[in-house]
Amino acid sequence: PEYEEAKDQRRADVTYDDIGGLGDTIDQVREMVELPLRYPELFQRLGVDPPKGVLLHGPPGTGKTRLARAVANESEAQFFLINGPEIMGSAYGESESRLRQVFEEAARNAPSIVFIDEIDSIAPKRGQVTGEAEKRIVAQLLTLMDGLEARANLVVIAATNRPEAIDEALRRPGRFDREIIVGVPDERGRREILGIHTRGMPLGDKVDLEELARTTYGFVGADLAALSREAAIEAVRRIMPQLNLEERTVPPEVLDALSVTREDFLSALKRVQPSAMREVMVQA
Ligand code: ATP
Repeated sequence: PEYEEAKDQRRADVTYDDIGGLGDTIDQVREMVELPLRYPELFQRLGVDPPKGVLLHGPPGTGKTRLARAVANESEAQFFLINGPEIMGSAYGESESRLRQVFEEAARNAPSIVFIDEIDSIAPKRGQVTGEAEKRIVAQLLTLMDGLEARANLVVIAATNRPEAIDEALRRPGRFDREIIVGVPDERGRREILGIHTRGMPLGDKVDLEELARTTYGFVGADLAALSREAAIEAVRRIMPQLNLEERTVPPEVLDALSVTREDFLSALKRVQPSAMREVMVQA
């Protein structure tokens, strides 16, 4: 299934403009990934090998997947997704063959980006708790990365929120030897992210995204996306009484008057918790 998905999602349409609060991070990704994919001749001329693997690390929901899609799109590279936990779930030998398939197809369609989400689930430190399956998959991944030619015009990006938990062998030179931190957004970052997720919404006059950014300390991108969605749902709830459910469409005057208000956001704030807090609460 993830192989099918990889195919469907090859045309990533996210751009850098759809990512908030990660300006410096985007610069780093452009330099490490976009530049070599776009202008391999620069690196060839200088006689240096472009990076084969880049590790993105940061808490869940901070935009790692979105960033990988954006850099693929902006580099005009094909995007192949491998979901760590999903690929681990397959039958004996199947995970390795899927990995091989994805790498082969990505190489055939270069320039390409292979994105491995939650790599820690595929490649935890060997020796400790790992079973035979993990050992084989890590070995396969290392073989595939070592086999990549510097000129293959293929970059493997892996994401994790626990960089210390992955097999050290993966972080040696020629493998995931570059790291980029994708951090929790600050107030300005939250403001940018809120702007992105409310871009298509009619907003009430009193909606103040600066204020919202101030009051959402600890919220990551995924939380702010959820908050915006929830506020929109509040707006729908509010106009429900005006709808005649016998009618198949919403009357134009109701549609015209529909907007997401400050109160909708305040109600949404009561429902949406920042994910960092959820973790704290689970641990407590
Ligand atoms: P995970 O580690 O849980 O896979 P992730 O870091 O890969 O998370 P994404 O899957 O990229 O995060 O983000 C989930 C959703 O949250 C995105 O589809 C987007 O709607 C929103 N989002 C996250 N970060 C950002 C951001 N920096 N700017 C805009 N939207 C964001």
